Amino acid sequence: MEYMQLALQEAEKAGSRGDQPVGAVLVAGTDFVVGSNRIVSSANPLLHAEVDAILRAVESGLPLVGSRLYSTVESCFMCLGAILNAGISELVYGISLRDIHPEERFRARYGGYSCASMLELLGRTESGFVLAGGVSAQDCLAVWDRYRDAEWNAVLR
Ligand SMILES: [Zn+2]
Repeated sequence: MEYMQLALQEAEKAGSRGDQPVGAVLVAGTDFVVGSNRIVSSANPLLHAEVDAILRAVESGLPLVGSRLYSTVESCFMCLGAILNAGISELVYGISLRDIHPEERFRARYGGYSCASMLELLGRTESGFVLAGGVSAQDCLAVWDRYRDAEWNAVLR
């Protein structure tokens, strides 16, 4: 998938500068912007790849409503909230949070909620929002594993 490959390139860039390797692409019609995780490099806990892509879309004047967002990793509740509030209509992700965090940390950081279970919690399962996970999952996991190291694992704790 072309856009996920682009998101993977952004994940690689994030990993090589010491951020967690997560990349995103926001697609509106034939236009798109890329984003990447900048939590460590910008010392800003809000700059997840999805938020970065949304901010770049806003800067570029790309319409958010009805757009599609690709992320190499499943979105957290902050990003899912931003995605829904922005009116983005589709989220496509690679690997799930549950795949990359030990169960204990997944529960501690994310309450054990996946995007699917958060949508259910929010009563948004029938809203027309499209959620697709597991896209290019092997490639996404390979990038995640390549850059995983003790330093940013420590940041996550
Ligand atoms: Zn997030």
